[in-house]
Amino acid sequence: EAAINRIAAGEVVERPASAVKELVENALDAGARRIEVAIAHGGKTLIRVTDDGHGIAPGDLPLALARHATSKIDGSDLLNIASFGFRGEALPSLGAVGRLMITSRAPGAEAARIEVSGGRMGPVTPAALTRGTVVELRDLFFATPARLKFLRTDRAEGQAISDVVKRLAMAEPFVGFVLRDMSEGGEGRVSFRADAESGDLFDAMRGRLARVLGADFAENALRIDAEREGVSLVGYAALPTYSRGSAVAQYLFVNGRPVRDKLLIGALRGAYMDFLSRDRHPAAALFLECDPHFVDVNVHPAKAEVRFREPGLVRGLIVSALRHALAEAGH
Ligand code: ADP
Ligand code: MG
Repeated sequence: EAAINRIAAGEVVERPASAVKELVENALDAGARRIEVAIAHGGKTLIRVTDDGHGIAPGDLPLALARHATSKIDGSDLLNIASFGFRGEALPSLGAVGRLMITSRAPGAEAARIEVSGGRMGPVTPAALTRGTVVELRDLFFATPARLKFLRTDRAEGQAISDVVKRLAMAEPFVGFVLRDMSEGGEGRVSFRADAESGDLFDAMRGRLARVLGADFAENALRIDAEREGVSLVGYAALPTYSRGSAVAQYLFVNGRPVRDKLLIGALRGAYMDFLSRDRHPAAALFLECDPHFVDVNVHPAKAEVRFREPGLVRGLIVSALRHALAEAGH
């Protein structure tokens, strides 16, 4: 069992940033309005995600750590997955390859805690917590030294975590995010903060863009709002002058989920083709929304690829919406 869990865990958790992604997605699934991520040494020694979501009742804590036990899908429609998590793999995997401690409080219940280390689960014990959930992961991959060796420097792993947090923060502008580095001890150093945005979706997206990509970018971004055959595209795209030397400033989402998809990246490039050289990458935050049956987001659990039923339609929508916005801005 323990060995199988450790092998399976490697599929879900490749590096500290993938652990952060899973834990923050769980917090979002729990309806959190504020999420704090604390890390130390690039997440290698500590990852702690604190949320104010609906929590886990004491009796459900062991279940949350059981493989394939998920509270989020009933099996009736595997394609129609509205929430982020649907595999019931993340917590058991993290508990198999690190030292995991979950403290939680559900409304009307007492706070409780459970620990699992290298796949060995302890009992549920009483704890002190006013609301929500704190998931603390220490010494990731201590149980799998081979994988530990493949991790990059603290700085590089920390950068990857920051990128994951910013992508999720971009996806959820109405949720507050804090990323804190505890490596030097004390209260830690806040490396990213984005308070919950208010107003309508476009106000919120623009506000969040300012936190993630800078005020200058947000002020000059072109508003995108297009629709074609039930597929909608909303968000902001930057003027060509805001392009970057890499794709770091491309924030792409499909049904609220951050993706790195060739088709979408290619469409974005295509729209700017006449204005940018090959080595420049346009900056944008774009949200594609469509019927869940129109897209398969379950290509690989740890990868952010998607497969569209009608790729041509999606490409056409993106290229024409962005070209239209660029033309209106005088390009
Ligand atoms: P999944 O998210 O695919 O269901 P996970 O292993 O990530 O699987 O989580 C297992 C279960 O633990 C979830 O289905 C959920 O019921 C519970 N859970 C995990 N994290 C949280 C959280 N932050 N708040 C509330 N419940 C949580
Ligand atoms: Mg999950």
